[in-house]
Amino acid sequence: MILRRGGVLGVWMLLFWALTALAAGDRPGFEAEVRWVADGDTVILKDGRRLRYVGINCPETAHDGNPAEPFGTTARRLNQNLVDGGTIRCVPAGHDRYGRLLGAVFLPDGTFVNRELLAAGLGYVLPGEESAPFAEHLLSAQRQAMAQGRGIWKYLDRNPQSLVGNRRSKRFHRIDGPDAQKIGKRNRVAFPDYHEAFAAGYAPCGRCFPRLEGMLVRGGRDWND
Ligand SMILES: [Zn+2]
Repeated sequence: MILRRGGVLGVWMLLFWALTALAAGDRPGFEAEVRWVADGDTVILKDGRRLRYVGINCPETAHDGNPAEPFGTTARRLNQNLVDGGTIRCVPAGHDRYGRLLGAVFLPDGTFVNRELLAAGLGYVLPGEESAPFAEHLLSAQRQAMAQGRGIWKYLDRNPQSLVGNRRSKRFHRIDGPDAQKIGKRNRVAFPDYHEAFAAGYAPCGRCFPRLEGMLVRGGRDWND
């Protein structure tokens, strides 16, 4: 546990440095070439490593027989436009539970790619200790996209919902789902609709909300193209 805490502290310091050294142009981390863009938040590097953008979740593209989620193709296209075939700087932020490398990704001009996807409304903040150092930075981009109705936010279902958030995991659940009853009183927070939950920086639980379109109203021509 002590080692783990040390590791997290190290990531904090590294990311703090990354965000404060933007002007200096000598950010930490490593340079890498992008071989292939898998979707909005995942790329394959030239050395074969799979890199997952930390702190965000983009709609899925079509895979394993499942159709794309709304804006999944659009998110992938933006990611391609930003990084495909180019050189990025990755500030590593540990690994996810599937063992994939997590990272904050920057373009040579200093553009913070993770943030760009949120600013376009093509993903939402995925809170976690790995992304904690720049959580507010990411969330402010999402809030702006929400206010402007960009991407997925244009179609977010604004009807009242019975949602319960967990202050520790920063995930929100359906009140009648399997997880809601397990949240302790102190960690429990109620949200009246999806908008409030997302605006507070909470992400949907994958079991309660397996697909993004479950939280959206039927979209228009830009729903998926
Ligand atoms: Zn749940």
